[in-house]
Amino acid sequence: MAKAETPIAIARRGVMLVLSSPSGAGKSTLTRLLTVKDDNLRLSISVTTRPRRHSEVDGVHYHFIDVRRFRQMKEAGDLLESAEVHGNHYGTPRQQVEEALGAGRDVLFDIDWQGTQQLAASMPDDLVRVFVLPPSMEELQARLERRAEDHPEIIANRLKAARDEIGHWAEYDYIIVNDDLERSLGELRAILTAERLRRSRQAGLGPFVDSLLVAKAAERA
Ligand code: 5GP
Repeated sequence: MAKAETPIAIARRGVMLVLSSPSGAGKSTLTRLLTVKDDNLRLSISVTTRPRRHSEVDGVHYHFIDVRRFRQMKEAGDLLESAEVHGNHYGTPRQQVEEALGAGRDVLFDIDWQGTQQLAASMPDDLVRVFVLPPSMEELQARLERRAEDHPEIIANRLKAARDEIGHWAEYDYIIVNDDLERSLGELRAILTAERLRRSRQAGLGPFVDSLLVAKAAERA
């Protein structure tokens, strides 16, 4: 059968894809690789009160703000979810997410279990939750040390926090053990593809099927 020149566009609801993991499990790399090759997926850029790391760019990795601004945003209802992680505040600005979803785009969230719980309570139908596990705690520690941008005591705290984060794995829909980046990326893409095809998300499917049936009926007449 001849292939359609342009794919048939069926209106659909955007997916809110959440990725959580302990620091050092490779989540940021996965997030980056997933978004660069997917035109329909937007990364939600969080606000944070954490100091910027040397490798980070304001407005790209995070919007770096002070505690006063964070509180203002929270009180004004400008954050879709927020949490304190490792002693710093993090939050998801509401506007960028609503704009992306409204434009039919999917949104990727790199947030912790607390934020995931909040989104699950407020937007359960749109949310797909993926948890990324490290292959071992030794590997997790090695990855944190290799990154070496944080002080040793920060690394120790993050290892402790990793255990707490991992404790929430069962609250997620999908689990990826990241022992091979390429495979994990493939698994993540497969999850997104399948979730995009869910009947409940393909809002324009009814009219499309109606048009198929009308065409068939017209042929017979
Ligand atoms: P990091 O400081 O290493 O960039 O991030 C620390 C943790 O905070 C990560 O687990 C990350 O997923 C989480 N995080 C980043 N942004 C947000 C956010 O907007 N909300 C919540 N709840 N967690 C976030």
